[in-house]
Amino acid sequence: METKNISLEIKDKVAYIGFGYNNEKSMTTLDEPTLKEAKELVENVKGKVKSKEVVGVIFFSHIDSCFIAGADINLISTLKTESDGAFGAEQGQLIYNDIEDLSVPTVACVHGPCLGGGMELALACKTIICSGDKKTILGLPEVKLGLIPGFGGTYRMPKRVGLPNALDLILAGKTINAKKAKRIGLVDGVYPKERLISMGEKWLKKNKKKASLKESVTDLATDNFITRKIIFQKARESVLKLTKGFYQAPLKILDTMESGASKGRASYLASEAQAFGELCVSEQSKNLQHIFFLMEGAKKYNGPKSEKQVSAPARGAVLGAGTMGGGIAWLMSNSNMYPLLKDINNDALELGLKQSSAIYRNGVKKRKLTFEDFERKQRSINPTTSYAGFKNVDLVIEAIVENLDIKKKVFADLENHVSDDCIIASNTSSLKVTDMAEAFERPERFAGLHFFNPVNKMPLVEIVAHDKVAPETLEALYKFVLASKKTPVLCKDGPGFIVNRILIPYLNEASYLLMEGVPPQDVEEACLNFGMPMGPGRLLDEVGLDVAAKVGKILYDSLGERVRPIDLSDKITELGFLGKKNGKGFFLYDEKGKETGPNPEVMNLLPKKKIHMDEVEIQKRVFLPMINEASMILDEGLVSSAAEVDLALIFGIGFPPFRGGLLRYADSEGLERIAKTIQEYADNVDAKRYALSDYLKNLVEQKKKFYEA
Ligand code: NAD
Repeated sequence: METKNISLEIKDKVAYIGFGYNNEKSMTTLDEPTLKEAKELVENVKGKVKSKEVVGVIFFSHIDSCFIAGADINLISTLKTESDGAFGAEQGQLIYNDIEDLSVPTVACVHGPCLGGGMELALACKTIICSGDKKTILGLPEVKLGLIPGFGGTYRMPKRVGLPNALDLILAGKTINAKKAKRIGLVDGVYPKERLISMGEKWLKKNKKKASLKESVTDLATDNFITRKIIFQKARESVLKLTKGFYQAPLKILDTMESGASKGRASYLASEAQAFGELCVSEQSKNLQHIFFLMEGAKKYNGPKSEKQVSAPARGAVLGAGTMGGGIAWLMSNSNMYPLLKDINNDALELGLKQSSAIYRNGVKKRKLTFEDFERKQRSINPTTSYAGFKNVDLVIEAIVENLDIKKKVFADLENHVSDDCIIASNTSSLKVTDMAEAFERPERFAGLHFFNPVNKMPLVEIVAHDKVAPETLEALYKFVLASKKTPVLCKDGPGFIVNRILIPYLNEASYLLMEGVPPQDVEEACLNFGMPMGPGRLLDEVGLDVAAKVGKILYDSLGERVRPIDLSDKITELGFLGKKNGKGFFLYDEKGKETGPNPEVMNLLPKKKIHMDEVEIQKRVFLPMINEASMILDEGLVSSAAEVDLALIFGIGFPPFRGGLLRYADSEGLERIAKTIQEYADNVDAKRYALSDYLKNLVEQKKKFYEA
């Protein structure tokens, strides 16, 4: 038979089915044509098994870097109705049932990512073997898109690895490496990738007699009822604790798996398909799919183009070994950039090195890193108090004190010590990149590169352009951020860039609410119940009240009355409360940094007379100014699309992903309603803080959404 995406070769009565055939991409996904072909091909092989022309089947991939990365998300995103979704899942299930039912040994030879629909295909085989390569990862990550694995994954995974392991993998969408997969019994053997197929052939022979699925460790249907009930109850509790009940997919998965525990295959799979259908068209899954596409989009540089061929900088250096410099040096060493780390004295350098070492040690503790790797990577950071060696680096990131004059002096000096091609970036959080660019003889090589604290944990990096920057500088920085496994967002220079600019009105408004007499706990809870990872008081403590006050003042100087800081922050910092870093802020913290309760001295600064405000009202008061501010950023052309704002806020402050981003949330709520409420607040609360942006007004007039503008 003629195939396009999957190859079929029969040799010595063994059918070799190869995915990723004729595929020039580095990844295989199960798109519509591939699934159609798989169906025909499996039917064909089924016939040959019947006629005894085939006595064993091997599944493999032609692509060196990928087995099957899962179902095509583009295909899922086109599903419009529950029944479309359920029907799609059923089609896949039928193919995999056919594979499972083949009366001959079947082996999946996995090298590279084996995820989602790819994992489910492997699970339908009697034997799974994989390469021990770093690229090989296995799992069912569907829950991350608000979905349930729909091709039988929730049915077959527990049979193979036992219920607790299966729940652990499926509910968190975890991916695991070959070693762990072998440990929990997901794969039967791990071999060098060059020997995978030959080992697959050996397994076929081994399994010749036993052509049925291996005995389950914990079969959903046969496991003890009481144990099963307890396992599901514990899993449900931990899901609720982790997701605070915001995410419906893990709960749906639990329901499906628990209620299907005593069902036969056909009826179990029908309920899995039904659950897939319901979830795939849910608003939450659509929002998570939207974020997936935003992230995919961010993997490609889409800024101003250069004539030159641009690659990611290979060697790096960091100026300033403080909180941020230490973290950035860690990041560069982790990306094999052998960074130089320069500070003005050895004590500061020691602190910077301690910081990267602490991050690495934590990695060793969590078994993400071997001790040898830690030592090698840590040793690759070269501490220095001079510019020796700077001529050989491609990128210098400055992270010294936040003072324009000092930074400008340092830049003027630095330019004498680096090569002409070296790119220089500043990690400033509040100064104007345009002002700093004046210090350079060659400003085209300079841009802002705003990391968030702590560098190892925060995924976002804002790349800040100014008028004189060269496109190749932006592209090289973009590639550096991607190579460091962070998410880049490009923006133009403006006060607070994207995240801090949108965050300040939110934090300000939360403080205004406190001064109106709304109990702090109510404000915190309203934001948590909206899905924020922490309330505004906790966030201020985390950022540092002094830092937030400083950024707040800078924004006020540039943006004026609508972001006027409340004097509460000044009063708190005057009392010496800086937040988590000195154990006292809105909340108190113990030596380990654990919150122990509200700070009574801060509570004393708030009005004694409290008022009750409805939770939704509190949410509107704090989130609408963010939407308004974001629309001004779009109006000023600081970013090119609503998608960039949403990506920045999700990765910069943890704006709840299930809402799809701030502006997607605004679109779904209805811009007319939002604008009307902002106007009401302008009339009744504060005309300046709630002055409706022209951009938003225009969108409403034109009946457009942020994502249509
Ligand atoms: P920090 O005070 O912890 O560290 C600054 C370091 O720079 C110190 O070790 C100091 O000795 C060193 N230094 C001063 N002058 C120097 C010079 N001429 N050459 C080399 N080293 C010099 O400061 P930080 O919090 O790491 O902030 C650094 C930069 O990062 C600032 O621009 C800040 O705005 C920005 N930033 C900070 C955060 C944050 O949360 N801390 C977040 C994002 C961005």
